[in-house]
Amino acid sequence: MIPLARPVLGAEEEAAVLEVLRSGQLSLGPRVPEFERRFAARLGVAHASAVSSGTTGLHLALRAAGVRDGDEVVTSPFSFVASANVIAYERARPVFADIDPRTLNLDPEAAAAAVTPRTTALLPVHIFGYPADLPAFERMGLPIVEDACEALGAVHADGAAVGGRGHPAVFGFYANKQLTTGEGGMLTTGDAAVKERVDSERNQGRASNMDWLDHDRLGFNYRLSDVACAIGIAQLQRLDGMLAGRARVAAAYREALAGIEGLQLPCEDSGSDRRGWFVFVVQLPRGRDRDGTIVALREHGVQSKPYLPAIHLMSFYRETFGHREGEFPVCEDVAARSIALPFFPEMTESQVQQVSDALRAVLESSP
Ligand SMILES: *Cc1c(COP(=O)(O)O)cnc(C)c1O
Repeated sequence: MIPLARPVLGAEEEAAVLEVLRSGQLSLGPRVPEFERRFAARLGVAHASAVSSGTTGLHLALRAAGVRDGDEVVTSPFSFVASANVIAYERARPVFADIDPRTLNLDPEAAAAAVTPRTTALLPVHIFGYPADLPAFERMGLPIVEDACEALGAVHADGAAVGGRGHPAVFGFYANKQLTTGEGGMLTTGDAAVKERVDSERNQGRASNMDWLDHDRLGFNYRLSDVACAIGIAQLQRLDGMLAGRARVAAAYREALAGIEGLQLPCEDSGSDRRGWFVFVVQLPRGRDRDGTIVALREHGVQSKPYLPAIHLMSFYRETFGHREGEFPVCEDVAARSIALPFFPEMTESQVQQVSDALRAVLESSP
């Protein structure tokens, strides 16, 4: 069976973990600031804070942006559920707006139409590693938190790395991401005050210059361990190779899947925007039975899954916020037709060919 994802881990990660284990300092040690410094330097941003996951990083970023009880945050319904959940954590309301059918990112015009006097932030998601239109969101004049969890390696048309514009931006390090620490995340920011607040809130609200029993604000335990940061440092050192591997696999898929009637491939880069490849998601021809396609692919030894379901149609969001079908037609159409194919840096050309032949055979056989 060809799996959906597989991390690249080797002797460097093993050695880095062993070194931390033997040092006896498994958390709050030197690997945390080292990983942060290297990550920030790579993106060309002033500050980075390591956190326990992408989700916890987004939560702290929203708090830093000043989102509070009763506020509204405009965001994309086509995302991993975490980007909306973190808004609800602060008892604010996720206000969804429809997506751009080409990039699958939050449509700036739809987002602008969803802004009300209660809107305190925008939360665009760089979905599938494709840069969201940040210049358009910046013109709206509201605080921005970027969900860059799928977008390490992506670059905006103006040359800024995704996550490098200075807004709080958050990356995720779960095992299927471009860089993994098992679980983990990183919040980048151009603002030293945001860095200071996040570092305190991830550590129970302790100020850096305070005795360890005093806490001057409410905080959480959202820390990332030295073990995880050591893996992250090793992963950063091989990041260019892993990103190049993903780009190579994507190019091979494009060639192998060309010409299948009605099948929609991920959009090509437009202008100077550069995708940081994360997943290879295709939209099946309209009218195809998606579940049946997934079962048939499995019979060919190929894993696949629906990717992603629309957030506003999930039970919690229907019940809590009263959402229903038909509100965001572009998102709902894409969410109903999309499947993720196996995609990882060390995927071979023959594996890509096997997946592509299987998909072609399944789509060209029965309806
Ligand atoms: C992975 C991901 C997250 C964060 O996930 P964690 O599992 O908490 O690290 C958030 N948003 C998106 C879009 C993601 O893909």
